[in-house]
Amino acid sequence: MQRPCPARPRALQPVASEEELRTTVRRLADEIAADHGRHQPLVVLGIMKGVVIFLADLVRHLPMPLQIEFVSARSYNGTRQETVEVLDDLGGLDLEGKAVLLVDCVLDTGRTLASIHREVVRRSPADLKTCVLLSKQRPRRAPVRPDYVGLGVPDVFLVGYGLDHDNRWRHLPYVAELRMPEDAQEPE
Ligand code: 5GP
Ligand code: MG
Repeated sequence: MQRPCPARPRALQPVASEEELRTTVRRLADEIAADHGRHQPLVVLGIMKGVVIFLADLVRHLPMPLQIEFVSARSYNGTRQETVEVLDDLGGLDLEGKAVLLVDCVLDTGRTLASIHREVVRRSPADLKTCVLLSKQRPRRAPVRPDYVGLGVPDVFLVGYGLDHDNRWRHLPYVAELRMPEDAQEPE
């Protein structure tokens, strides 16, 4: 009988190291603090679930009083066009007159950020800025220009630092390209 496929750590090709992520998160926090000021309250609204680790690191470098909130979204492959469903419709979150920072881990087509941005605008915030840690180098399919961008990354499937494949790999401390999503094993 044939043995099962051995572990293949080479399935993960590092794209952003821990050190690079640390430096990038610190720079983003400095930019946000410089624009926003150290004393004005801020609502940090993260897009679940991929954002959790980035957001946890980012907020620990932000000096202003802040509130952390989350929103969930899911992309669909429709018959002709992908759509994004905002899963909890921001619940009863009151954003009127508040300064909001919308945060996602990776910008790909731009649809997720664009669609949640629209939802937030409906709630009449006083100020709304957007921040992404990773920006894929590819054409966008929705009109988004994040105010704060961490790193440009190639247009490949990424895992780690919050990003998953089938709910795996989120806990990797670095970002990697997943080359063999079907049979990838845990790294050694
Ligand atoms: P967009 O709507 O810009 O196409 O995609 C953004 C969302 O898709 C992100 O919030 C993330 O959940 C997911 N996504 C996009 N690219 C990747 C990727 O390379 N890896 C993973 N794990 N998720 C991704
Ligand atoms: Mg996912």
